[in-house]
Order: sequence, then structure tokens, then C-alpha cells
Amino acid sequence: MIDTHCHLTLSPLSKDTDRIITDARNAGLRGMITVATTSDDSQRSLALAQQHDHLWCSAGVHPLYSDEPIQWDLVKSAAQHEKCVAWGELGLDNHYDHPPHAKQVSVLEEQLAFIQTCHEEGIEKPIIVHCRDSFDDLIDIFSCAPFDPSRYVFHCFTGTPDDARHVLDFGGWISFTGVVTFKNAREVAEAAKLVPDDRIMVETDAPFLTPEPLRKIRPNEPQYVIHTARFLAQLRGCDEHKFEQITDENAERFFGITLAPMKSGEGN
Ligand SMILES: [Zn+2]
Repeated sequence: MIDTHCHLTLSPLSKDTDRIITDARNAGLRGMITVATTSDDSQRSLALAQQHDHLWCSAGVHPLYSDEPIQWDLVKSAAQHEKCVAWGELGLDNHYDHPPHAKQVSVLEEQLAFIQTCHEEGIEKPIIVHCRDSFDDLIDIFSCAPFDPSRYVFHCFTGTPDDARHVLDFGGWISFTGVVTFKNAREVAEAAKLVPDDRIMVETDAPFLTPEPLRKIRPNEPQYVIHTARFLAQLRGCDEHKFEQITDENAERFFGITLAPMKSGEGN
């Protein structure tokens, strides 16, 4: 298993990263990606990734941090390292009205232009998308950007089956958190049945969104990704180990990484 999206630099996880990473490895995880939310956090995420095997990071600015000062040079220098395997998370969040939508859009456009410049300089990576109630706006913006649609993953999918179809028709990938396991998120589960095997990934978004049956446990940790994978496998009528293998291979292909070997006794 891999947790393709967690935030090990956020409190309270940041105080306990060695223990969290050890527990995740003991639970059978073969890798984790800690995702950045600001330019400073891009540097912190890289520093942490450099300390651990099979921990990777991203570099970018989250839409809910759009109104903080951004130092693109810090994002770029983090991205230049081989442990940094994605841009983001970037996107739009219409669930909250702060930062204002216009500010989120302007930072998103600035960020996509920045990424284009980096790609021209040979720093090429896939893009982790934060999308909350913003599918139409984001797909319009991405359709005008110069990147291959198959290089976007819409992380923490919380939309409807129609939203999933929209992302898939665009050509993007979809990644699920513990939200899909929640009893009040039936539409997300319906959407998860539509995603083809070659475009699905799993994640925790820890410290947030602990999956059922552990939902009451706070904070969430990468080791709990297994519960989301198990739920999705059952939902999709897929053998659990087969599903883990599919999502691991997808993550390797999408992010260009090689996961740690499976521990003996796993995967059979
Ligand atoms: Zn996140």
C-alpha cells in the first residue's frame, strides 16, 4: 500500500513523524507522499522526505493559503530535488469564502504559469489537485493550461458521480480518502464505482478524515489508508490484495516512483 497524500508537516503529525512513519511501514505501507500547502511548507516537506526512505513530497500552494505571501523560488528549489514528485496541492475551494474566490483563481493561474516555466526548464511533474465544489471552474482552467490531462489527480474526491464523469472525460485521475467510507457520503461511493482501474488512487489526507471504522480516532495517520483501500475493493467487487497491487502500480506510474518491496507475508 501507499498513502499518496498526507501532511506529515502539519500539527499534530509534525511532532511525531518518526513514530508515524515506523507505524505505517509496520502496517505494510510501501511508501508515502507528504503534500505541501505553502512555499515554506514545500521546503519543510522536502526536508522530511530527505530523512526517510520511501517518503516523497510535493511542492506548491494550497488554495486556502492563497492569501499568504508566496515565494516561488522556494517552491522551485524544493521541486528540483528528486524526492519531490508532484506539484501541489493546488486548485480551488468553494466550500469556504476565504480566501475570496478571485484571489484563489489568481494564485492558481500564477501557479500554473510558474509550473509551465519550470517544465520548460526540465522540472516536469504531475499535479495534485485540491477541488472542493469547483469541478467546472477547475476543468475550464486546466483545459486552457498546456499540461496533459492525464498528469492531474483530483485528490480527496468528494463529488457526485456526474463530477467523476466530468473529471474522467477531461482525462484526469481520481484519488479517494476516508470520506468514501463515511455513511453520509453515498454519492462519493457511487462515484468510486465509475473510476477505471487505471485511474484510481488512495490516500489518507492525514491528519484529516480518518476512515471508517476508525473515524473517531484523531488525528488520521498514513497507516489507516488500508481501511479506505479495503472499503474501495469491496465496493468495486475486487479482491483486496489485487486492489492494493493495482493502486500501488498506479501510484508508481503516476508519480514516477518505486515503492519499497512488500514485506514477506503480504500480497498473497
Ligand atoms: Zn491535502
